[in-house]
Amino acid sequence: MWRDLAPVGRHPDTGGYRRFAWTPADADCRAWFKEQAESRGLAHELDRNGNQWAWLGDPHAGEAVVTGSHLDSVPDGGAFDGPLGVVSSFAALDELRARGAEFTRPLAIVNFGDEEGARFGLACVGSRLTAGQLSREKAYELTDADGITLPQAMERAGHDPERIGPDPERLARIGAFVELHVEQGRALDLSGDRIGIASAIWPHGRWRFDFRGEANHAGTTRLTDRRDPMLSYAETVLAARREAELAGALATFGKISVEPNGVNAIPSLVRGWLDSRAADQESLDTTVTAIEKAAREYAERHGIDLTVVRESFTPVVEFEHALRDELGRILGARTDLTAPVLGTGAGHDAGILSGSVPTAMLFVRNPTGVSHSPAEHAAEDDCVAGVLALADVLEGLACK
Ligand SMILES: [Zn+2]
Repeated sequence: MWRDLAPVGRHPDTGGYRRFAWTPADADCRAWFKEQAESRGLAHELDRNGNQWAWLGDPHAGEAVVTGSHLDSVPDGGAFDGPLGVVSSFAALDELRARGAEFTRPLAIVNFGDEEGARFGLACVGSRLTAGQLSREKAYELTDADGITLPQAMERAGHDPERIGPDPERLARIGAFVELHVEQGRALDLSGDRIGIASAIWPHGRWRFDFRGEANHAGTTRLTDRRDPMLSYAETVLAARREAELAGALATFGKISVEPNGVNAIPSLVRGWLDSRAADQESLDTTVTAIEKAAREYAERHGIDLTVVRESFTPVVEFEHALRDELGRILGARTDLTAPVLGTGAGHDAGILSGSVPTAMLFVRNPTGVSHSPAEHAAEDDCVAGVLALADVLEGLACK
């Protein structure tokens, strides 16, 4: 399966994957999924929001155990983020059949559409639509860099955009959803474990800092006469790093826009975007409040006007404790494995679904922690351990 997927949507120069929603590369991934489903005698189904399902047993019986992830990628993404979960799901089913497992509940493998949001700028579109966390109206407004709207892109790819919208009937049939994913960090590498169980997705948000000063000539304006917002911005970047370290949080200024953006001009405006995340709400609040306070002090010193706007915020997502503990019990029965419980700063379809159905995640060790890059990696032994852990979990949940 890994060899089949390896060339799909891979850019020859960067070696990274460009599997964007509703593109030919995405269609190739979808064709591969359908083939895998049918070759195993599973019933393939494309839902109204473009998510693919492969069913074993009666899809309408209820209490289904669902596993899977996504096949799309960020620009120049790695091979593992998403596909590892889908491939492992099919491999885990093969393992269970080899064990002669008898299923007492329906099982489904899912490929959620447009998880990364690389093309239309919003992550988890397939699962958000299904869970009713993205309205049809808002989805219709999504536009890619070439001005093509989401419904136009769907139509071109042969999917009827008229059908998109909440799908509560489908969610009601799911008893549990388990997503296996490559870890996007080094917690497992540091603890020396192959597999982890997710506790929660950290609260995270984006804040826009507008530093307004006065544009002027870089060659004729004395240093003491300047109101240069770049200075306050630069000091704020350093403060973000310092405050994040103090609170055990994460803070990143990764995007900036400058006006007038001339080499020989003192800027009039520096706009910087802060991404901040932490294990709990209190640490996140402490970090962002401290960064803003520092920014205001620097701005005042340089005669700069500062406005701070929170552009988005996602509160902590706690995965259901009962299901998480069940996974802990199932994997705890293994003598060759310890599976620590850990949080993550990255969003997932599992996080979206957790508002509607009991949801859990398994992580597979990533030796460098690198993700969203062609250098993303997991060792073959660890991937096999992931498949076996997922098989154990599915057996525990869906079999006699
Ligand atoms: Zn992912």
